[in-house]
Amino acid sequence: MHIKDLCTQCDHWTITTITHDGKIATFTCTHCKNEFDLPWNTETRYLIRSIRHSLKKRTKTYPELLELKREGDGIKIKERSEKPKTSKGVEKH
Ligand SMILES: [Zn+2]
Repeated sequence: MHIKDLCTQCDHWTITTITHDGKIATFTCTHCKNEFDLPWNTETRYLIRSIRHSLKKRTKTYPELLELKREGDGIKIKERSEKPKTSKGVEKH
């Protein structure tokens, strides 16, 4: 499945693909190919749902997000409010 999400690795809004084998979900940024794994459980499914949900609101604020259509697309948008940088996920080589 695909979600639109902000990649903390390349700092772009991108299409993220999610694949899972029933135990582990792998999130891959199609822009910079950064990957991270999360256990495939209720929490992760809830996270995906909440990302999708908050995207609707975000798209209204940032219509640029509608430009994200294909894998590999990446968009930088200027946040109106400054948020402290957090790192999530583990980089895989
Ligand atoms: Zn990325």
